Amino acid sequence: MAKITLSNLRHSYLANPKGPEDYALKEIDLDWMDGGAYALLGPSGCGKSTLLNIISGLLSPSEGRILFDDQDVTALAPDKRNIAQVFQFPVIYDTMTVRENLAFPLRNRGVAASKIAERVAEIAALLEVEEMLDIRAAHLSPDNKQKISMGRGLVRDDVNVVMFDEPLTVIDPHLKWKLRSKLKELHQRVKATMIYVTHDQTEALTFADQVVVMQDGEVVQIGTPVELFERPQHTFVGHFIGSPGMNLLPAEESSGGRVSFQGQGVALEGPIKGAGGLTQIGIRPEYVTLGAAGVEAQVRKVSDVGRHCVVEAIAGPTLVKAIVPGDPPLQGETVHLGFRQDQTRLYRDGWVATEAAT
Ligand code: ADP
Ligand code: MG
Repeated sequence: MAKITLSNLRHSYLANPKGPEDYALKEIDLDWMDGGAYALLGPSGCGKSTLLNIISGLLSPSEGRILFDDQDVTALAPDKRNIAQVFQFPVIYDTMTVRENLAFPLRNRGVAASKIAERVAEIAALLEVEEMLDIRAAHLSPDNKQKISMGRGLVRDDVNVVMFDEPLTVIDPHLKWKLRSKLKELHQRVKATMIYVTHDQTEALTFADQVVVMQDGEVVQIGTPVELFERPQHTFVGHFIGSPGMNLLPAEESSGGRVSFQGQGVALEGPIKGAGGLTQIGIRPEYVTLGAAGVEAQVRKVSDVGRHCVVEAIAGPTLVKAIVPGDPPLQGETVHLGFRQDQTRLYRDGWVATEAAT
């Protein structure tokens, strides 16, 4: 196991990159601490697989270095890096049995037969594939093939890091939840560093202690699930995480550090930083209240999502979403929107521009 450091990392798939738009990874500086459970979360195309392939050595970065426990491994071949990588689609040997597939990474390294049998039994129990051990992999369903592929990633106990690149894509929805909890359980048991790549916030938030959020080749925030929810550093995080995501309201900024929305002053979590740029007020639907006073709005839509209702109300040209626990208003009704102060912040050109409430 090791701490993994990415230092000044940039990558372009082009031979002669010009502007930042030519880079799949723009500038990454990141430490993955030994034993951490990380998720790498971001939309399709933001550079997640590129980053994993650079860590595992399948790809050599255009610029920057990769360190394992402060040792430069940038030039080291993948098989010398001691990493297990599980891909989006199963990588197994069809002609081998499940048992042989699971044993392969250990046999390949000359591990003693008794130890191999022990590890294979342990992983098979964990993934609940014991009854399949003597079946040829060719006969497995896609779900089970991917389970075995994951098992091959987990069977060694001497790796620096186990990386999963969207491993549940081909898995049945009802099995997804189960496998995800298994991975979490496994992480707690073996304490290996794990990096789990996904574009699905639920997967990221249930698996990881720390979530690294990427957008467009850049890391926009690293934090616990609670931190990402409670204090998004960037509007992208606010919008991408949460259901529905954070409201972004056009802010009118006036001198003296005041901000208003629809002509009414809005109290922010703390003092404003910086000046100029595009300013938006960020407030999660959970913290928008409907009351007697506040910004006037008309209810456009009410959706009952079980435990609460999502109310969409229009204030001037802006749609605002509120999560309402009790009786919701009716469509067409006039409501007044309130914003909980310690959860209301200003964003400037996407980045948070208020000091945190103390
Ligand atoms: P993600 O895994 O987050 O979906 P990728 O790392 O696969 O994103 O891709 C990041 C960007 O790099 C995308 O714009 C993608 O089109 C591009 N890209 C990925 N692989 C290659 C490749 N082999 N050659 C050229 N461009 C690539
Ligand atoms: Mg990918």
